Amino acid sequence: MASSNDPASAVRQNVETRLVTAGRDPKAQHGFVNPPVVHGSTVLYPTAEDLHAHRGEFQYGRHGTPTTKALQQALMALEGPQCAGVGIAPSGLGAISTTLLSVLKAGDHVLVCDSIYRPTRNFCNGMLARYGVETTYFDPLIGTGIEQLLKTNTRAVVVEAPGSQSFEMPDIPAIAAVAHAHGALVIDDNTWATPLYHRSLDQGVDISMQAATKYIGGHSDIMFGTISANAKAWPLISEGIRLLGVCAGPDDVSLALRGVRTLGVRLAQHHRSGLEMARWLATRPEVVEVLHPALESHPGHAIWKRDFTGASGLFSIVLQPKPQAAVDAMLDTLTLFGMGYSWGGFESLAIPFDCTSYRTATSWTPGGPTLRLHIGLENTEDLKADLDRGFAAFNAA
Ligand SMILES: *Cc1c(COP(=O)(O)O)cnc(C)c1O
Repeated sequence: MASSNDPASAVRQNVETRLVTAGRDPKAQHGFVNPPVVHGSTVLYPTAEDLHAHRGEFQYGRHGTPTTKALQQALMALEGPQCAGVGIAPSGLGAISTTLLSVLKAGDHVLVCDSIYRPTRNFCNGMLARYGVETTYFDPLIGTGIEQLLKTNTRAVVVEAPGSQSFEMPDIPAIAAVAHAHGALVIDDNTWATPLYHRSLDQGVDISMQAATKYIGGHSDIMFGTISANAKAWPLISEGIRLLGVCAGPDDVSLALRGVRTLGVRLAQHHRSGLEMARWLATRPEVVEVLHPALESHPGHAIWKRDFTGASGLFSIVLQPKPQAAVDAMLDTLTLFGMGYSWGGFESLAIPFDCTSYRTATSWTPGGPTLRLHIGLENTEDLKADLDRGFAAFNAA
């Protein structure tokens, strides 16, 4: 294990191996495979001279511990060579708000993808507006057309691929090239694919955020966020985190790190099962459309294929027009698909959604009731049988 933290060897390793080896140094911890969960605030200095010089790798609990360092190293190895640092936040939304507060100032303008995670929109319309930052929302399919929306004070462009709930696929490299030509930073919410399936920082993104609550944690038992930044953006993020006092509890850091170790096998299964279920759903008479970018029929499929190396287990379906009572009868019949927000754990989920009231740059007209599904790690035949029963209730209502 001597070489696990050696960046040169990390570059040679394949990503599945890096997920297992990065940030681990058993020799430094009596041979134990995992780092200790360090609960700590005060860090003692051995001498007055060390104290005055702020000498020592760890100086204060909020600024990092051996546990957070291990997670940061693992995530840096996952992001790849463009990653200059990884910040840790107590939730995905905390990672987003910390990023925006670190990058923007009064008088700035920010461009945000219309299909962004809704609480991100609430943060922009609420706190950013209050602090004198103007937000303009753009069509996720705008591509190089973003040029028309950039102003002299546009400081950042925020994207998410695919879009929350509706799964549009923005052309991130095209948007990034235009944004950079105008001096704006590019920020990506990369929660859906994780850096395993979408290497944002290699595709022109400066700051890639994760709701690690989802697939990184992977077991529906933590709230967690991470912020990966390139060399251009990391000084801003690092400073912002320090000024805001953002940190996370050590047990959650440890659970996030444990999630990283198995991310490869979990996501591969979510990809396989998700796609199998999406294809099966596409054959159902009750389903008008399946919104899954890895399906050849999806309008964003070519972009997904070019920019992503896999898909996760989250996608949406449009049902035949029926009253809400029919959809509710279906949801109440399902036993393996739970109803609940969040996703990325081992369990399957189904949740109704409607983007009509809050999209502003685009209009949401799916042509029928919509459900967002998370395909968990259950057997897919069991999941189909569950949905079969659900559709029977949908049809009977
Ligand atoms: C869930 C989610 C978040 C927020 O994460 P929390 O940990 O719940 O705060 C942010 N972005 C996306 C795309 C999400 O799905």
